[in-house]
Amino acid sequence: MSHTLILSLFLHFIKSVFMLKLPYSFLNVVIFNYFCYHLKKQLLLMGAKILVTGGLGFIGSHTVVELQQKGYDVVIIDNLSNSTLDVLDGITKITGIRPEFHQIDLRDKPKVIQFFKSHPDLQGVIHFAASKAVGESLEKPLLYYENNINTLVYILQQMQAHQIPNFIFSSSCTVYGEPDKLPITEDEPVKPALSPYGNTKQIGEEIIRDTTRAYPEIKAIALRYFNPIGAHPSAHIGELPNGVPQNLIPFVTQTAIGIREQLSVFGDDYPTEDGTAIRDYIHVVDLAQSHVVAMERLLQNKNKSNYEVFNIGTGRGSSVMEIIKAFEKVNKLKLNYKIVDRRPGDVTAVWADTGLAAKELGWQSKLTMEDALRDAWKWQQKLEK
Ligand code: NAD
Repeated sequence: MSHTLILSLFLHFIKSVFMLKLPYSFLNVVIFNYFCYHLKKQLLLMGAKILVTGGLGFIGSHTVVELQQKGYDVVIIDNLSNSTLDVLDGITKITGIRPEFHQIDLRDKPKVIQFFKSHPDLQGVIHFAASKAVGESLEKPLLYYENNINTLVYILQQMQAHQIPNFIFSSSCTVYGEPDKLPITEDEPVKPALSPYGNTKQIGEEIIRDTTRAYPEIKAIALRYFNPIGAHPSAHIGELPNGVPQNLIPFVTQTAIGIREQLSVFGDDYPTEDGTAIRDYIHVVDLAQSHVVAMERLLQNKNKSNYEVFNIGTGRGSSVMEIIKAFEKVNKLKLNYKIVDRRPGDVTAVWADTGLAAKELGWQSKLTMEDALRDAWKWQQKLEK
């Protein structure tokens, strides 16, 4: 007997019991059918097996938690180049489920082929694994093209070979460069990339678009993240920057805890209210949830075309000075910072128009910048213990 049939019979049974207990009315029938429809939909999605590449990284680990908490069966591939096995323990502490983990370098094509052969029941892939340091990509462009492009191609080849239909890609608002207008909609033109890293995201999107055109059985969504910050509120998982942090928040928390002497604010002469650059900072838990919603859109065939792109941000911009002040206020401490020259390649202001994600995915961020700054600080303190 199929899974679906058993589920339908089960729901029918509950429905009959329910009907006997409540006075029969048209409204009750409508409410109950609505309830059954959604329960059935969720139960059918539950248990779907999803591969998360880079699942021990910052955004990947939070997404694994959200997937597990919604009942998905998660398999992780990570080569631990920018993460550690402790993250598996952190995930397990939060969800009570230790996800299946494979330490594989996705550049190793034979290993990738072997992995997909042994996992014929995958229903979707969320592809986070990549190198992400803009500065490093300028020094080692070939490493970035190999790690961010080759791995993507190998995965898509295997998805096509094994008829795995659903793919989510980690893209970035860097594809917009210095935007012509704010907030940025998905229709804004993609500008020439300022770094090999940024270029890998643009090329990655083009590879996916071409793949979904040639093989319509594959459906894909590229999520263009704005600036992910924060950590899980449990402080069991968070960001693990390698060396000197390139992003603002880890630099802030490392300065607050004394690892760094002083926080450098790159430029206070931008044409913004307080002169510092503006970004759209999104809590990593909100960002992680957007992946679950996007995957469900594909699993339920709700996508409007085979390749879709969504901005994932809060829709609000905050300046560097606003972040510093908010961090000091919510965590009740003082930060040692100084203003230094602008950093080459930094744009003035970027924030998302999140209307499309709200309309199509039914997703919008819920957590505040203050929540993220509190959670990031909690995580930093935990790291020091
Ligand atoms: P991260 O470095 O924390 O996570 C990436 C994970 O992938 C790491 O655990 C790393 O070990 C793994 N990995 C890298 N290369 C691999 C390979 N060849 N084989 C197997 N595993 C490999 O990064 P993150 O911040 O979680 O970012 C995830 C994705 O989101 C990346 O694609 C990144 O480019 C993109 N993104 C990140 C940001 C951001 O600010 N963090 C913004 C926009 C887009």
